[in-house]
Amino acid sequence: MKDPPESDKRPMLNPKFQNAPLPVAVDQEAVEALASAIEAESGTNIERNRDLAAFSSWQIGGKADLYLEPPSGEILGLALCQARTLDVPVTVLGAGTNILIADAGIRGLTLRLGKAFDFRQWQGLGEAEAVVWVGSASRFIRLAKETVAEGYGGLEFAAGIPGSTGGAVAMNAGAFGGEISDTLVEVEGVTEDGQLTVWPRDKIKFAYRRLELPTRTVITSSRFRLRRSSKVRLRDAVARVQARRRKGQPQGFANAGSVFKNPPGEFAGRLIERVGLKGRGVGRAEVSREHANFILNLGGATARDVHDLMSLVQDEVWSRCGVWLEPEVRLVGEWV
Ligand SMILES: Cc1cc2nc3c(=O)[nH]c(=O)nc-3n(C[C@H](O)[C@H](O)[C@H](O)COP(=O)(O)OP(=O)(O)OC[C@H]3O[C@@H](n4cnc5c(N)ncnc54)[C@H](O)[C@@H]3O)c2cc1C
Repeated sequence: MKDPPESDKRPMLNPKFQNAPLPVAVDQEAVEALASAIEAESGTNIERNRDLAAFSSWQIGGKADLYLEPPSGEILGLALCQARTLDVPVTVLGAGTNILIADAGIRGLTLRLGKAFDFRQWQGLGEAEAVVWVGSASRFIRLAKETVAEGYGGLEFAAGIPGSTGGAVAMNAGAFGGEISDTLVEVEGVTEDGQLTVWPRDKIKFAYRRLELPTRTVITSSRFRLRRSSKVRLRDAVARVQARRRKGQPQGFANAGSVFKNPPGEFAGRLIERVGLKGRGVGRAEVSREHANFILNLGGATARDVHDLMSLVQDEVWSRCGVWLEPEVRLVGEWV
């Protein structure tokens, strides 16, 4: 078998889990001090040892040391600031449709934006355009439906992307030729020093399934500029997107959509199919027989099962096709 290519420089490679970050030592006294500080200053309850599997579309994952759904931007800022002071790691979850949470769970503080960040506000810009301001907890599919109902185009591709809007922005989500970056005007977020900051689009670096903001920034809302369009045409576009998804994607088992990014000029799924891995399993995880870039939880799969199946796919595609598949899903938590 060939070694992964030189260009694939991953200095933080975890020797046991080739796609996961290295575990970091976390001081449990600092973790408890963080919980007490947030509770004392905000009056908000922090949950300890919260089960996370229900927050991942794969329905996999261990427990979070500390779990918080901040009820406001101020408390989010306070939590981030205290975590930085106490040197406690922070993990942000959206709707969990593009993450693999480690079986050992997530050390430090896990944040998930809830009701306070679930809103959509419309701002007319005359006949031809409108801007919609969207809270990060707002479901992306719901946003797509609402834009169509209002008669504005630009987000039809989102019909069928099951994440939160914050997660979609963080991932620069896209499908069928459309992408977040096409309509995004600005992003609002809270930085690790607790400051609410706005980044206009020209200050944001977009990449394939990635958007660059300062580390540990939590995106709280985003603005999209949309064009007036015929509702009939928009509804047709959405119906086409949904039909393509129904036809091409597996139904019935927990999954996280496409596991690997498409390499330039290729489709990850086509390569995986070409090397004969459809239906291949590790433990209770299986490469979908319908769409080879999906890994299914057949029921009871562990994060390790999914990870090891991902590694098997990467190694096989590399040795047979000379292409190293980069994960699109993000591995979070403690991989030990
Ligand atoms: C059936 C299925 C189909 C899918 N189809 C597509 C598709 O066509 N195109 C596509 O692009 N994706 C697709 N996905 C993947 C996924 O839905 C998108 O990437 C989605 O945008 C992720 O949003 P999320 O809220 O679930 O984020 P999560 O999975 O919770 O998180 C993803 C990443 O974003 C970060 N993040 C989440 N919220 C925030 C925030 N508020 N601030 C800062 N960082 C944040 C997390 O830390 C993590 O690194 C699909 C998934 C499934 C299950």
